[in-house]
Amino acid sequence: MSEEKKTLNFIEHIVEEDLSNGFPKEQLRFRFPPEPNGYLHIGHASSICLNFGLGLRYNAPVNLRFDDTNPIKEEKEFVDAIKRDVAWLGYAWENECYASDYFQQLYDWAVQLIKNGKAYIDSQSSEEMASQKGTPTEPGTNSPFRDRSIKENLELFEGMKEGKFPEGSHVLRAKIDMADPNMLMRDPLMYRILHKSHHRTNTDWCIYPMYDWTHGESDYIEQVSHSLCTLEFRPHRKLYDWFLDQVIDEKDIRPKQREFARRNLSHTVVSKRKLLQLVEKKVVNGWDDPRMPTISGLRRRGYTAESIRNFADTIGIAKRENLVDVSLLEFHVREHLNKIAPRVMAVLNPVKVVITNYPKENTEWLKAENNPGDESAGDREVPFSREIYIEQEDFREEANRKFFRLKLGGEVRLKNGYIIKAESCTKDKDGKVTEIQCTYDPKSKSGSGTEESLRKVKGTLHWVSVPHAIPAEVRLYDRLFKDEAPDSHKDKDFMEFVNTDSLQVITAFVEPSLKDAQVEDHFQFQRLGYFNIDVDSKPGKLVFNRTVPLRDTWAKIQERS
Ligand code: ATP
Ligand code: MG
Repeated sequence: MSEEKKTLNFIEHIVEEDLSNGFPKEQLRFRFPPEPNGYLHIGHASSICLNFGLGLRYNAPVNLRFDDTNPIKEEKEFVDAIKRDVAWLGYAWENECYASDYFQQLYDWAVQLIKNGKAYIDSQSSEEMASQKGTPTEPGTNSPFRDRSIKENLELFEGMKEGKFPEGSHVLRAKIDMADPNMLMRDPLMYRILHKSHHRTNTDWCIYPMYDWTHGESDYIEQVSHSLCTLEFRPHRKLYDWFLDQVIDEKDIRPKQREFARRNLSHTVVSKRKLLQLVEKKVVNGWDDPRMPTISGLRRRGYTAESIRNFADTIGIAKRENLVDVSLLEFHVREHLNKIAPRVMAVLNPVKVVITNYPKENTEWLKAENNPGDESAGDREVPFSREIYIEQEDFREEANRKFFRLKLGGEVRLKNGYIIKAESCTKDKDGKVTEIQCTYDPKSKSGSGTEESLRKVKGTLHWVSVPHAIPAEVRLYDRLFKDEAPDSHKDKDFMEFVNTDSLQVITAFVEPSLKDAQVEDHFQFQRLGYFNIDVDSKPGKLVFNRTVPLRDTWAKIQERS
């Protein structure tokens, strides 16, 4: 998080205005209110950074509130994952709250609304009720049950709570105005019957409160001052206020709902419901698959919390929806890993090089800097011997003058080592190069201080000594969707745009210093990109994820196609 933000975002302006109108700073309070029906994604990171960022800026508490009013879709697994992700992002919540903790209070208030003539039991089917809703330009029609007596309403509501009725037989509705131009005000549902066990309240309840009835009242119970949500809730604000009006005590803080735009990331979907489909249809290997735009997927992929916070800070908060290019997220992880990731050498697509004038049994340990940009990162030693691997792409038998890698008759420097010259090569029957024979200049060793060691040649290649190389599984990821905005097509389902080639698994060779690398360790494979150790790694079997290539190759591929 950048300490000093240049300008205030519009939400901060709203808070500042409230403060200047006399709202006491010590009563500011915020919340992040996920529904535990899936894992958090990069869109949620924006909301988390906004709410917790406000908490830090104003030294105000921020609650983590689980909006758990739909037992059909919610699970403890999701609660735990959400807590882990928010904490990993670096934020500490004041209280861990659950809307389900307020079920009794919400019920008591609902009874009060019935007694005040502000709510009634409707016993029609959902189709009948929908047919009476009207349209934005035509008023709806009153339910035949709208004028039930208070006594009857109270009895039925209690019966609903006692489990006397089947699902769908009755609902509790607020009695507002069936002609209100805002359709949400046309006697909205407050409760429905669901004979389902809840992950926290088990079978204590068989009626569950609706989102609109729950959310504002939960904010009020927690005395949240600013309740920030995404734009689709703008039309709900009138109802949010109406529900508050029914219960508020004027000495309490009145929560204020304000809206900001949802963040969408290119080449993916940010909706728990859609991400769940990817998991269920096994398009990916779970919520934390490194191709997923979930916080847990990004973490496993090698993203750092700092890079995600910086990304969220950079895109900021907007009043209108737009599509943020995923390359911006990649930029931020490169920028952070460039600072913290040790440099190492690995060859992904190897071809053997034999240095014919190098003594057969010799091994030299060459000094290599761990991070040229950070002296405190120190040095390590990498073994050099007569046989090394380089990348197949780094060799051509013949090439034009712009090819600065190895070609027959040409010279390159081996990173941290000697200058070599390609003399000949061996090919298989398909013409594929299987071995390159080189000679080396014994006086050209990097850092040895000789004139030859300073000799400049155009190309420098990474390499790994054959007898010391450790084989490792490397997982290379591509965009999960081929389309920039897979869920923006009216006539096509987002699943049609899944990139079936988004995972490539290869065996690479890595330098021996990586032998004991630990899960989540980050590295820069020189000239290739940033990689980290995957949780599937075991002693003796390293597994790496490519977090991101060194440069943005996607833009180039797009240009070509
Ligand atoms: P989803 O459709 O992915 O389930 P949601 O809005 O239903 O998203 P919630 O768990 O209700 O998910 O969201 C918790 C908070 O995060 C809400 O305040 C919501 O507005 C915010 N949020 C969700 N998605 C985004 C997004 N893409 N960009 C910004 N904020 C988001
Ligand atoms: Mg939701």
